[in-house]
Amino acid sequence: MLNFFDLRNENLIEKIQKLKLEKNAVILAHFYQRPEIQKVADFIGDSLELAKKARETNADIIVMCGVYFMAETAKIINPEKKVLIPYYKAGCLMADTAIKEEIIEYKKKKPDTFIVTYVNSSADVKAVSDICCTSANAVKIVKKLYEQGIKKFLFVPDRNLGSYVKEKLGNDIEMELWDGYCYVHDQVSKEDVIFYRERFPKCVVVVHPECRKEVRDLADFVGSTSQIVKFVKQTSAKIVVVGTEEGIINYLKKIAPEKTFYSLYRRFICDSMKFITLSRLYKCLLEEKYEITLDENLIKEARKPIEKMLELS
Ligand code: SF4
Repeated sequence: MLNFFDLRNENLIEKIQKLKLEKNAVILAHFYQRPEIQKVADFIGDSLELAKKARETNADIIVMCGVYFMAETAKIINPEKKVLIPYYKAGCLMADTAIKEEIIEYKKKKPDTFIVTYVNSSADVKAVSDICCTSANAVKIVKKLYEQGIKKFLFVPDRNLGSYVKEKLGNDIEMELWDGYCYVHDQVSKEDVIFYRERFPKCVVVVHPECRKEVRDLADFVGSTSQIVKFVKQTSAKIVVVGTEEGIINYLKKIAPEKTFYSLYRRFICDSMKFITLSRLYKCLLEEKYEITLDENLIKEARKPIEKMLELS
């Protein structure tokens, strides 16, 4: 039997579906979104997949259920479209650690260093970067650039993902790391992995590269959210311990209902992602706010590193 909250959610979902059709809108949602948001979304994916979907869509309105930089990225790729985010305060603390002016200063001092910027960054920061990457393609992108003869890199802003790229490509690669991190992933420690290993010796532990090295080193698989989804589809393990934001577990349970999932950390939650609720999404579609508006020149400059990434990925 449905309780009050289920009924209220069903009602909101119906209204959202109706508005979506009326306004020719598409709802894109990140894996870390609440289950009810995932339910109403047209597409669920990671940052790269969402960026690609935003580029392919014929909809007039793109509603990004994710954090602010994701909505900005959708706008940069689709300047002619209306891009909305249900809550304007849904920021990313990691993205906030990268400051445009500091990167410009760095470039002045080290003009031969290539700036590789994680998509988890503001449009301002993207605009002064040489290329963007996601956690799914960071290793591939830097490898290709290295093979093209680029030898010095600055990785912005996630020091954990940057160190993972370095590890994968061999430590002789000259790459400096910005001192940013994701508070959600960085809080996990190796003791959390050891706890599950002792409790469930047959489990597999999958973690996101935004986790610290000591955690990655003990994991069975390290990958972006989309890579974790692929891994879960093909593993024969019955128990999977998930080392990324727990919103993804809702999605994993749907694609692999026969498996048991545990969150690696007791509160593996990105508060910003959870700011997006059904009522905010409904209001967003109804009132067409909050709209992402970016200066034309900023769009032009921020688009270059994203396009370069999409070419190489
Ligand atoms: S999980 Fe971390 S990196 Fe992702 S949006 Fe939240 S704070 Fe930013």
